[in-house]
Formats: sequence, structure tokens, C-alpha cells
Amino acid sequence: MRNEKGQFVKGSVSLNKGRIVTDEVRKKISKSLIGKFRGNKASNYKGGRVYQMGYICILCPDHPKIKNKKNVRYMGEHILIVEKKLGRYLEKGECVHHINGIKDDNRIENLIVMTESQHNIHHLKLRKHKQFFTKEILEFEYEKNVKTMKEIAKKYNCSKELVRYYLIKYDIKTRSKNRWKREY
Ligand SMILES: [Zn+2]
Repeated sequence: MRNEKGQFVKGSVSLNKGRIVTDEVRKKISKSLIGKFRGNKASNYKGGRVYQMGYICILCPDHPKIKNKKNVRYMGEHILIVEKKLGRYLEKGECVHHINGIKDDNRIENLIVMTESQHNIHHLKLRKHKQFFTKEILEFEYEKNVKTMKEIAKKYNCSKELVRYYLIKYDIKTRSKNRWKREY
């Protein structure tokens, strides 16, 4: 109940009280709301940049990967960054790996394209080699001894990717400047 000024009067009974909302009415209500609170109309709109499963995702419903999919409107930012760098869309079976394992660290030097099978194998290896290198070892070998990733990998009998993983993890600046040009 409202007073003459339109304010709610304390202790009054809500107009909705006792009203039965049937499923049909509920459907009608939700139908009428479809689209009204989406995208930039939503109260939680953050410029089309959201977190999904630990990844940063960007609203881009027109991306060819999701264009024809229902209810998928966001793409992982890491994928978009890599595609921009490559100048092409990722092919089927290709995926982007975060080298240091931090899903929202989308610096270009932290991203690498792998096939899905390479990616699975890589993650299995990483699990095996957990805490393989300490920061001290890598600073000593890579910075003081100026060994290459390949040389370190050979010495410690592991893959070059694992060396790269720990270099980035420990924020040690890598020397391979032309990785993107060379590999793609
Ligand atoms: Zn990965």
C-alpha cells in the first residue's frame, strides 16, 4: 500500500501476497525479459569482457568458431590474441596453451599454439615434472651461464618447452625474440 506521495507505508500488505504465479505466467514473464538484460543492457555489463572458468573471455558473437552456435557468444581472449598475431583463425584441432599455467596471463610470450594431442601430452609431462626447476637453477643456467633453453633441456634431460614453462613462471626474461616469426 502506498500513501498519497507514492511511498510505501510500513506494515502494509504487498499487492502480490497470495497471488499464485503459475508456470505459464512465469514463462510469459521470462519470455518478455529475453534480450532486455543482455549485453550492454545487463546491470553487470563490463564491456564484453568476462571471466569464464578462469579464462578471460571477450564478447564476439560474430567469430566464425561460435557464429552458428546457440548460446555461445564469448571467445577466450588468449585465442583472439594469438589469431591476431598469426593473422588467421585457429584451425580445427589447434589450441592455445598458457606456458606458465596461469589461465588469465594472456601476454603474447606466455601463449603458444599446439595441436590438441600435443597439448594433452604436454600437460601430462608437466604433472610429472612438477617443481622440476627452482628459480635459482634457472637463473644460474640461463642468465649467468647464458645457456640456451635447448642446452638446459639437454643437460637436465627434459623438453625445451618445460624450460620455457619455468622461465616464464619465474618471470625470467627469455631471449628468443623471433619465436613467432620463426615458428609460424
Ligand atoms: Zn595448456
